[in-house]
Amino acid sequence: MKVSVDRSVCYGSAECAHRVPDVFAFEDGYGVVRPGREESADDPQILEAAERCPSQAIVLTERRAEAE
Ligand code: SF4
Repeated sequence: MKVSVDRSVCYGSAECAHRVPDVFAFEDGYGVVRPGREESADDPQILEAAERCPSQAIVLTERRAEAE
């Protein structure tokens, strides 16, 4: 799965960046996925970060859907 952050929803709590700093960063008031870490979504920490994001802004996308 791929992971991304929907900026239109993120309200900048920075929880993702604190929880999984290897994958998420906090830039310009928003959570962002670090370049090159978009394919990290199979990591249980990412799933937890997505579940705990207070605005549900962390989006997990099936790779299969992109290939179609
Ligand atoms: S945890 Fe969610 S709301 Fe908070 S910075 Fe990350 S994406 Fe944005």
